Amino acid sequence: MTSSLLPALRTALPTATIWDSSELASRDPGFDGRNFGAAALVRPKDTEGVAALVRFCAERGISLVAQGGRTGLAGGAATSAGQVICDLGGLNQIEEIDPLARTAIVQAGTTLGALQEAAAVHGLDPGIDLAARGSATIGGMVSTNAGGIMAFRNGTMRHRVLGLEAVLPDGRVFCDLTRVLKTSAGYDLKHLFIGAEGTLGIVTRVTVRLDPVAGAGATALVGVPDARSAQRIVRHFLASTSARLTAAEILWRNFASLMQRALNYAPGSLPLDAPCLLVVGLGADSMETARGALEDGLAAIWEDAAIVDGLVASSEAQAAAMWRLREETEQIERAHPMAPSFDVSVPAGALDAYVARIEAGLKTIDASYAPYVYGHLADGNLHISINCDGPVSHERHEAIEDVLYEGLREAGGSFSAEHGVGLDKREAYERHADPVKQELSRMIKQLIDPANVMNPGKIVG
Ligand SMILES: Cc1cc2nc3c(=O)[nH]c(=O)nc-3n(C[C@H](O)[C@H](O)[C@H](O)COP(=O)(O)OP(=O)(O)OC[C@H]3O[C@@H](n4cnc5c(N)ncnc54)[C@H](O)[C@@H]3O)c2cc1C
Repeated sequence: MTSSLLPALRTALPTATIWDSSELASRDPGFDGRNFGAAALVRPKDTEGVAALVRFCAERGISLVAQGGRTGLAGGAATSAGQVICDLGGLNQIEEIDPLARTAIVQAGTTLGALQEAAAVHGLDPGIDLAARGSATIGGMVSTNAGGIMAFRNGTMRHRVLGLEAVLPDGRVFCDLTRVLKTSAGYDLKHLFIGAEGTLGIVTRVTVRLDPVAGAGATALVGVPDARSAQRIVRHFLASTSARLTAAEILWRNFASLMQRALNYAPGSLPLDAPCLLVVGLGADSMETARGALEDGLAAIWEDAAIVDGLVASSEAQAAAMWRLREETEQIERAHPMAPSFDVSVPAGALDAYVARIEAGLKTIDASYAPYVYGHLADGNLHISINCDGPVSHERHEAIEDVLYEGLREAGGSFSAEHGVGLDKREAYERHADPVKQELSRMIKQLIDPANVMNPGKIVG
């Protein structure tokens, strides 16, 4: 990278914010220390600015990495010295909310939290939620096909996107800001960019579906013997006519104990002593209806689901304490810096057997291994961290992956549920994704980005 890069960038993009590598080194890179390894960061203000940056880089053979909130957990936004970051933070406007059509048109750098707030004014919600809502952007969520807490009900980001605009590797703008659900007009190419982690283009604007939001919510923490029991509770509430299930998050004991200790929860303050905990959320017209439905529902299913203990939160503060147990996952990082972490999807009927199998399998690698397991119960998405400091050796990592990923694809699950492939799961992708899918993906990448300037080294390129 020549020293003339920065002046040339400033001339070509006079309205963009530009940082050089020394400025990057002094700033917070987000959830991945590798995010700010690039030669420069450029923050354009609009789609034309992104296109100008892409053309600038394409002409010079410089590769570009799009970054939104930098909350990605698979190394998809990691950069190296020869690269330039396209920061979407300058494209952060909610251009339109249409309450009648229940759609929002947002720029890609809009955070999920900002969209949630703006939609709530109209009694609507983007129908997708995750703990990083304050920083994660709609463009980043599209690019990783984010899932989160409500995917079991509303689908993943792919199902929330009606249309999108993206700048292609040659600077052309692909524009399909469809606002309707039904369009059967040939190949639906927007899906190529969803889950592509910025390898095919830079998403600049998105039409997001919105749904009516429940007026109020209630939360309970329930102790159960296993995932099957928790699934009975979920099934019961899914059939409820008085309230709507909005969350069903499961925590296995190891993880729940770590969180209880880390958050200094007094023993007995919450029902925490069970093999598994379920954080269950219901939405309804009023708080009383939601709480009543939770209490009645749990009482009705108590024996059948073999519930060990349970508590319906009686205040917002108590509900928040229950959610912190599930959402403050950075406590794992504090206890075990760089602990190896994984994100799998397991078919519903196989959850208990899967957890038992990996617990036993990990012990054959190291007798001290006792994984932290938690996740989105209702869609079978488990997050798994190993209780050791990282990074572990390459061989050790592969051995852990073999235990975790063995038979998953054949059983209909996935080695990467919602965090993407990025850098960190490249090898796993090569070993565990369908070979024909890999070949087709390489062909698509070659067709759209023959010079491999868009986020090279991620997923396929
Ligand atoms: C506490 C915490 C909780 C989380 N919980 C969940 C969860 O429940 N479910 C879930 O799915 N994820 C979760 N995540 C992961 C993360 O929030 C998601 O992957 C999110 O979608 C990333 O968005 P971002 O804007 O931060 O993207 P970034 O981290 O900036 O980028 C992620 C990837 O998308 C690409 N990208 C970013 N913006 C664009 C764009 N405009 N165009 C093209 N490519 C782009 C990047 O190049 C990179 O490959 C969590 C993360 C944290 C830290």
